[in-house]
Amino acid sequence: MTGLINAVPTDKPDEYRNVFVFLETRKGSVVKSSLEMIGIGREIADKVGEKLVCVIIGNHLEPMAEEAAKYGCDKVLGAESPDLEDFKTMPYAHYAAEFISEEKPNIFLIAATHDGRDLASRIAVKSRTGVTADCTVIDIDPKERILLANRPVYGESTLAEILCKNHRPQMATARPGVFKVPDRVDGKNCEMDIRKVKVDPDLIRKEIIGFRPKEEFDITGADIVVSGGIGLGKKEGFSMLQELAEELGGVVGASRPAVDVGWIERDHQVGQTGRVVRPKLYIAAGISGKAQHIVGMKLSDVIIAINTDPDAEIVKYSDYFINDDVYNAIPAILKEIKKLKGEKVEEITT
Ligand SMILES: Cc1cc2nc3c(=O)[nH]c(=O)nc-3n(C[C@H](O)[C@H](O)[C@H](O)COP(=O)(O)OP(=O)(O)OC[C@H]3O[C@@H](n4cnc5c(N)ncnc54)[C@H](O)[C@@H]3O)c2cc1C
Repeated sequence: MTGLINAVPTDKPDEYRNVFVFLETRKGSVVKSSLEMIGIGREIADKVGEKLVCVIIGNHLEPMAEEAAKYGCDKVLGAESPDLEDFKTMPYAHYAAEFISEEKPNIFLIAATHDGRDLASRIAVKSRTGVTADCTVIDIDPKERILLANRPVYGESTLAEILCKNHRPQMATARPGVFKVPDRVDGKNCEMDIRKVKVDPDLIRKEIIGFRPKEEFDITGADIVVSGGIGLGKKEGFSMLQELAEELGGVVGASRPAVDVGWIERDHQVGQTGRVVRPKLYIAAGISGKAQHIVGMKLSDVIIAINTDPDAEIVKYSDYFINDDVYNAIPAILKEIKKLKGEKVEEITT
């Protein structure tokens, strides 16, 4: 099937213009990773002098479309129906593909969230094109208008640049947290085209009967992340990290092995198969700094590593290195913080 799709190049690719960005929504707001897509979409649209069009599908879209306009798009194109209230792959892909065949965008960017990944591949098949998944670098060749979609390969050791020369739109999903949310603008000149649609019942193959509330923990927005690895040696080490994180007004992160052994929940995992964070301060305690972890935190403004091994990889990426056992270093830091706050502290003898 894939071979058949690839065998049919797009007619007249030069007729395809503008950059589409899909807006994922939750509880009446556009999710942060879609705002990040507006940022990178705006950059590449400006490089070729084309328009940035946000595609939104759902119900009660106006406030979310207006929110998107304030992040700098030229147009919002929407399909609205009570049947589209919650994300459903088939009808969402249907309307996105309809917009593609009508507007012929050159590029279509989608955040690589759970729903974004699901949707992107379905839209690509419907539109007889491909999709480069999970990009961390996105650019455009301004002369040829070819999307330069880069994604890590071979366990994050190499970046592969993947080009889609013969099919349109050129689609990519991008890893949440990698691109910046753009500055807000007044958004007054943004064109709104929100259409009420009647959804074909055959497209609705699932019924959402409700959501079980989950304690929402989102590490990606934190300004300070105190992360622990297998070097902590035991689950209790995370209570110490939690105390430090609370003192600093931050949250706790973790390496994958610390999650795998059950010391902390997966929402806290930083790295290739976890979350990408870019806090002002990242503390890596008992983490060796393997490539799969580094890719999730290397964009942090300041990195402090605490490790007994002076040759650990993490040291190369750190602004400050504390060459000590975590169980000496962290209580000492906590003590200093408490002193600064004027609290009484017990002297630690090591
Ligand atoms: C496909 C794939 C995806 C992956 N995705 C991820 C991911 O998303 N995130 C991730 O983190 N990993 C990921 N990994 C795993 C990754 O390769 C490493 O195995 C992992 O990051 C190592 O975790 P760690 O640093 O906690 O453990 P280790 O590599 O074992 O390092 C422990 C460190 O603690 C130090 N140490 C030990 N005792 C102490 C002490 N008392 N005080 C201070 N320092 C001490 C040691 O010197 C060492 O440097 C992935 C691997 C694969 C193959």
